[in-house]
Amino acid sequence: MKNQRGNPGIERLKKIYSLYDDAIDHMEGVCQKKCSSCCTCNVTLTSLEADFLFGALTLLEKKALQDRINRHFPEKRYIPKMTTNSFARLCMEGKEIPEEENDPSWGKCPLLVNDLCSIYEVRPFGCRALMSRVHCSEKGYAQVPPIVLTLNNLFLQAIEHMDENGFSGNLSDMLTQLLPDNTSVNFSDPAKIHDNGRFVFNEKIPVLMIPPEHRENVRPVWEKLYYYFC
Ligand code: SF4
Ligand code: SF4
Repeated sequence: MKNQRGNPGIERLKKIYSLYDDAIDHMEGVCQKKCSSCCTCNVTLTSLEADFLFGALTLLEKKALQDRINRHFPEKRYIPKMTTNSFARLCMEGKEIPEEENDPSWGKCPLLVNDLCSIYEVRPFGCRALMSRVHCSEKGYAQVPPIVLTLNNLFLQAIEHMDENGFSGNLSDMLTQLLPDNTSVNFSDPAKIHDNGRFVFNEKIPVLMIPPEHRENVRPVWEKLYYYFC
């Protein structure tokens, strides 16, 4: 992997990932290496995270990534109709929430190789945020502590906010747009991204999604997070 020093947005993103790791360090999940039933084709990320991920790869690693995505591009996958901040805004405005389809049985993430993440160091927040106190493959579901769900929302909101001129989408769709032989969507042309229907524009935080009972608990993390993303 390459060193990406110099891009201020990416430097801040790395600090945010590290802050999250510290914040959930004591949460006692059962997650471990090669436990991968949460690695589905439905993971999403922001354009800043896609830039970070793609920019950290060497040419050879990009070629391997291209081969894997070409071979295993998921036919059915989660296509978001809103971002975390647009969901918060729609709730705040009392507007209808669009229905979305998301089913883990649609398949594995194309970046999973022998039950290991092939881009682990630069995986997006959506992957870092997956944790459970029970083995998902045994129980058939993840058990995420409520405080972790609140922290996840907070970090998702912050990461989207700092990429407010960017957009979000499914990991496979986003990376496909960055691969060298792609010509279908130009990331620098917002109209085409909109027409494409597979990406949603990021928004600023309209309101924080913190339940009243977690406000005091998350305040110290929020104060550090605010310093990085604002
Ligand atoms: S979230 Fe579930 S499937 Fe994923 S690593 Fe943790 S226990 Fe394993
Ligand atoms: S990018 Fe890596 S961590 Fe994320 S879902 Fe895919 S294989 Fe799992």
